[in-house]
Amino acid sequence: MADKFDVIVIGAGPGGYVAAIRAAQLGLKTACVEKWVNREGKTVHGGTCLNVGCIPSKSLLETSHKYVEARDEYGDLGISIGDVSMDIEKMMARKDKVVSQLTGGISGLFKANGVTSLEGAGKLLKDKQVEVTGQDGESQTYQADNIIIATGSVPVEIPPAPMTEDLIVDSAGALEFQEVPKRLGVIGAGVIGLELGSVWRRLGSEVTMLEALDTFLPVVDEQISKETYKQLTKQGLDIKLGARVTGSEVRDSEVVVKYTDSEGEQEQTFDKLIVCVGRRPYTDSLLGDDTGVELDERGFIQVDDTCQTGAPGVYAIGDVVRGPMLAHKGSEEGVMVADIIHGEKAEMNYEAIPSVIYTAPEVAWVGRSEQQAQEDGFEVKTGVFPFSASGRAMANNATEGMVKVVTDASTDRVIGVHIIGQHAGELIAEAVIAMEFGSSAEDLALTCFAHPTLSEAVHEAALAVDGHAIHMANRKKKS
Ligand code: FAD
Ligand code: NAD
Repeated sequence: MADKFDVIVIGAGPGGYVAAIRAAQLGLKTACVEKWVNREGKTVHGGTCLNVGCIPSKSLLETSHKYVEARDEYGDLGISIGDVSMDIEKMMARKDKVVSQLTGGISGLFKANGVTSLEGAGKLLKDKQVEVTGQDGESQTYQADNIIIATGSVPVEIPPAPMTEDLIVDSAGALEFQEVPKRLGVIGAGVIGLELGSVWRRLGSEVTMLEALDTFLPVVDEQISKETYKQLTKQGLDIKLGARVTGSEVRDSEVVVKYTDSEGEQEQTFDKLIVCVGRRPYTDSLLGDDTGVELDERGFIQVDDTCQTGAPGVYAIGDVVRGPMLAHKGSEEGVMVADIIHGEKAEMNYEAIPSVIYTAPEVAWVGRSEQQAQEDGFEVKTGVFPFSASGRAMANNATEGMVKVVTDASTDRVIGVHIIGQHAGELIAEAVIAMEFGSSAEDLALTCFAHPTLSEAVHEAALAVDGHAIHMANRKKKS
């Protein structure tokens, strides 16, 4: 038996690496097991988020957005720059550099905080032992008082569109295209589909999205999802709702996709096809016999509100457990669990986890939509303020979208905030803080916001709950 630890974390994504750093900061002897190897065969930290998720996708979104601004919008501002062209190789090289800087940064943080890095695949055995098998096939077993499983998720595959080497790909493959596909098919108009579809649309692809549901973005407030659909289709994303893929066939260097919609059977040919129909919890080869850790019917590790599994001292966090599959959700769970192991009374507020879709305009929300609030039995009052009435949005040439504040009419408490607009992903933070502190719409309305900022639209939407927005025709006189 090798070393004994206070805490062993399995998986170094944003759930696991944050848990490991926090545990080490609290003075716990901590190790983190990671099996992800990069192209050079070197173990890398950061998981899906840093290697093939949040970070590389945002790098491509930012570059492609700047390209569109330069190509289509600078002229309106009086800036002439002649022909604008895109160097895909350079765009990809920058993305790869950002990824390697950040993954290297996590390894550096492990060293600085005294986290022992164990390279290889971790397997949980009974009695809180972890077997780690390296790339050379050699295994070593470690003992810990506490284990945190943070093994994340992987893309769901569907039988009608099995992955191929380079024509039918998942989100990771779609971050690696070496040239702009002329005709790009996307199965699933969810978060990944919209973000990666936007990247390649901006760079010139004809993008067709096949979404099985009849409703667009059902998790988003209806008013906001309608506006999102309007904005994104205006940019040229052809989003087909109620389109069920029944088969696909690779012919030469093309993919022919068959699907059915309200008009019957359809067929469309693409140069590349991205399959992004959700992700599943990843527990392959993770659990030995008699560990006491149970999976639910969808494959998620079963945990309680504090991320404790059925086995005392064994916790699970991040995408591998229930809740939204978001990096910051996993990280906060990691902090909570490390604190609990250290003996503190920690908890997490699952009602105030923000979500952001990094399209342009961005879409961001926290808490309940108007429809969810009604379903949950609230008497709902809302306030909406459009960016078209914001001085800063006009100055920024970004007047699309709105802020919507949803409140419980009986208490005026803010129970949801929904934004579509420029920098919505940054603006939502103030709504999260408001909700975390149990703010009322009046609290927000009585807060002083800097002028001219986009955040004034949040202020105005809070004022609008009572019909008193300043820069909008009032619905009612203040009594
Ligand atoms: P992961 O990040 O999946 O990490 C799990 C780690 O565990 C991996 O490194 C894996 O190699 C390792 N592992 C698994 N099994 C073992 C084992 N047996 N032994 C050792 N190691 C193991 N979320 C956001 O919040 N914002 C975004 O903008 C965003 N964009 C995304 C874009 C894309 C294209 C994708 C695919 C996802 C995106 N996500 C985003 C989701 C986000 O990446 C995940 O929610 C997040 O990475 C989950 O963190 P995690 O630590 O639970 O798991
Ligand atoms: P998703 O659940 O957001 O969207 C999947 C979409 O595919 C859904 O609209 C679903 O109805 C559709 N679908 C499912 N099966 C289908 C089929 N057979 N044919 C056609 N459509 C089908 O999942 P995703 O976009 O794959 O993203 C996975 C996870 O990663 C999400 O949970 C998300 O939270 C996370 N993520 C977050 C961000 C972000 O925070 N900005 C970005 C990317 C990914």
